[in-house]
Amino acid sequence: KVTEHLAKANEKPIFSIEIIPPAKGGKIDELLNDIEPMMELKPPFIDVTYQREEYVYKTMPDGTQKEIKKRKRAGTVGICSAIMHKFNVDPVPHILCGGFTKEDTEDLLIDLNFLGVENVVALRGDTAKPFNEFKAKKDGHSYASELIEQVADMNKGIYLHEESTYLSKSDFCIGAAAYPEKHYEAISLDIDFENLKKKVDAGADYLVTQMFFDNQKYFDFVKKCRENNIHIPIIPGLKILSTKRQSEILPKIFYLDLPETFANDVKKANDDKAARQIGIEWCINQCKELMAFGVPALHFYTMSKSTTTLAVAKEIF
Ligand code: FAD
Repeated sequence: KVTEHLAKANEKPIFSIEIIPPAKGGKIDELLNDIEPMMELKPPFIDVTYQREEYVYKTMPDGTQKEIKKRKRAGTVGICSAIMHKFNVDPVPHILCGGFTKEDTEDLLIDLNFLGVENVVALRGDTAKPFNEFKAKKDGHSYASELIEQVADMNKGIYLHEESTYLSKSDFCIGAAAYPEKHYEAISLDIDFENLKKKVDAGADYLVTQMFFDNQKYFDFVKKCRENNIHIPIIPGLKILSTKRQSEILPKIFYLDLPETFANDVKKANDDKAARQIGIEWCINQCKELMAFGVPALHFYTMSKSTTTLAVAKEIF
């Protein structure tokens, strides 16, 4: 379980990563080859995102932007099983409210339980198009806290239509998302924090933060949690900025601030290669400061690519 791994992290934080399934029709071998170099650093657990449809914007020859619906990245459960057997790591599938009825979720959890997967991160899921209103499926969950409650119920042997001593209990360790700089939909940091408490009360065992580039936001968030009786581990999520454009789009998509010096340096970079080097150096410094603070793990949003993550992690671990 993730919490057991975290409890064992003594002097050094754990190296952990998040990967994404290949686009539909992609091959699992390519994914496994892509992530294999990171196994050298022995991540005890790997998060596998769950993706529904995504929209991308393509610039057409006449300069207009065309919205294109990309096919979904299926395969989270299969990838979890494959990485568990190939790399002997504990997979952490993300599970979503969006696109699932409660019954679908129960079936998914039963599958994961059969496979011996003992961790999940329970999320609401993104809207199909950025900034659209989230719509739950009929008889699905609207908020991550409700999904967490369903997993916690199954851990007690309470299924949707039956509560019986004959039914086996699952034993999932449950992670939930946290937003040190506020979730983009929430009208204030305080309201978002009240909603975070609902996830903890529903049974979240640990939190993973949205990416941030200013460590002070994480430190303030942890302080606020501890002052409000939230004592579960809070894993910092880290993204290594790797293109000039990301300095413009990440703050908008994820509702976060880039520290001014960092943003200016990236802006002045001659090309993406130079921007990536600035991103790597920034992240190394972030990691060093987070380690001094005593974080239990450093969790990298890798998009299943090794190069930049290794450039940072080899300086740290
Ligand atoms: P929630 O906790 O449900 O919060 C969503 C919004 O609703 C917030 O604004 C919150 O303040 C508000 N809210 C919560 N409860 C209530 C309530 N009871 N009443 C009123 N308002 C409420 N997306 C994917 O699609 N796939 C992934 O694999 C994935 N992995 C992620 C991993 C991490 C670590 C993080 C940080 C995010 C990930 N996401 C993923 C993105 C995530 O799905 C989105 O950020 C989503 O918009 C919110 O998810 P949540 O679980 O935080 O939602």
